[in-house]
Amino acid sequence: MSVDQLRLWARLESLSRLTDPDRPWTRRSFTSRFLEGRAWLAAEFRAAGLETAIDAGGNLIGRIEGTEQGLKPILIGSHSDTVPSGGRYDGILGVLAALEVAQSLIESGTRLRHPLEVVDFLAEEPSEFEGLSCIGSRAMSGALTPQHLALRRADGMSLEEGIAYVGGRPAEIALSARRPGSIAAYLEVHIEQGRVLENEAKPVGIVTDIVGIRRERITVTGRADHAGATPMPLRSDALVGAARLIEAAYGRALATSGDEQPLVATFGKIEVSPNAANAVPGEVVMTLEVRSGNEAAVSTFGTALVRDVQPELAALRLAVTAEPISNVAPVACAPAVRTAIADAAKANDLGTRDLPSGAGHDGVFVSRLGPIGMIFVPCLDGRSHAPEEAIEPGQAADGARALAGAVSLLDERLD
Ligand SMILES: [Zn+2]
Repeated sequence: MSVDQLRLWARLESLSRLTDPDRPWTRRSFTSRFLEGRAWLAAEFRAAGLETAIDAGGNLIGRIEGTEQGLKPILIGSHSDTVPSGGRYDGILGVLAALEVAQSLIESGTRLRHPLEVVDFLAEEPSEFEGLSCIGSRAMSGALTPQHLALRRADGMSLEEGIAYVGGRPAEIALSARRPGSIAAYLEVHIEQGRVLENEAKPVGIVTDIVGIRRERITVTGRADHAGATPMPLRSDALVGAARLIEAAYGRALATSGDEQPLVATFGKIEVSPNAANAVPGEVVMTLEVRSGNEAAVSTFGTALVRDVQPELAALRLAVTAEPISNVAPVACAPAVRTAIADAAKANDLGTRDLPSGAGHDGVFVSRLGPIGMIFVPCLDGRSHAPEEAIEPGQAADGARALAGAVSLLDERLD
């Protein structure tokens, strides 16, 4: 089976052009623009020969039956919604590479043993419903709660109404959710959204895990004083203490760069009070975000950081507290799926690199149903979620080739 690079690229161009004209490349979930993209996709699925329908959770699914009765389906796909202004390839590459694989199978007369499902998951990106993401994959895996369905966006629409708007059946979501162990495997092609593959000139990234993300609120408390009348030795400057924490976090995370499961740490949000030019900062509240595939490293990073810097802060007469805000555990990609991707890439003369996904994906939820894997392709300068996001036709096709090969191997190897 060979994939058609020109057809794949033409489809990427066609679907990406279905964008809000004033802010390319935008196709937000639960909008008429999104439905326009969905209608186009459903027509392409059907023309390619896929049995096509929308499931209860609002996912668009095209299916080919397998030759052996009773085998679980192999799922391939991604998402067709975008963040504002940035989604020319993020998401649709995975959906259209999956469609290309399915169509190539049909055209070459190749029948898989397993059913094959091409999935466009609903609303992978943070939605207008209080930022909830991965809505379709949550629904499919039984992780979408009544509380989620009651969320409302600014115009008053509830998520329940939103799912009905895109053709789902919210009342059936709970009963129709798939069970753990109900899929043979899930594979997704996605742009890397980083610079590792580009730097190393590797066409295929084999994702090792989708990182866990932990956020903590770190508060440094000193004393606000007059910036002119308070001599240096008498100050309790909370921002100086915050700077020590930021520097230490950077160093600790940097030291893991060469590890098999590196950790990244960011203080991306910081509030200083009183935040005035003539006042010694009395309090700093900042958000520490830590991501890694190593769950223990993620959960202990903040505590260890504060413990290490505590003596320095005490010398500055500062107090520090850390409280958790949120915690999402990492998800490992299955060894069998990773091996199939590696074997498929080798058979296609495509160089590979193992790497973690620093961004969240639908695979986090689909992993509740069966083994998952992800194939990354390089994107220009690592840019994503921005209008500058770019890939080459050959890079898209390499991702589809690795996917096609991995699907064939998994079909042979899996029960
Ligand atoms: Zn994406």
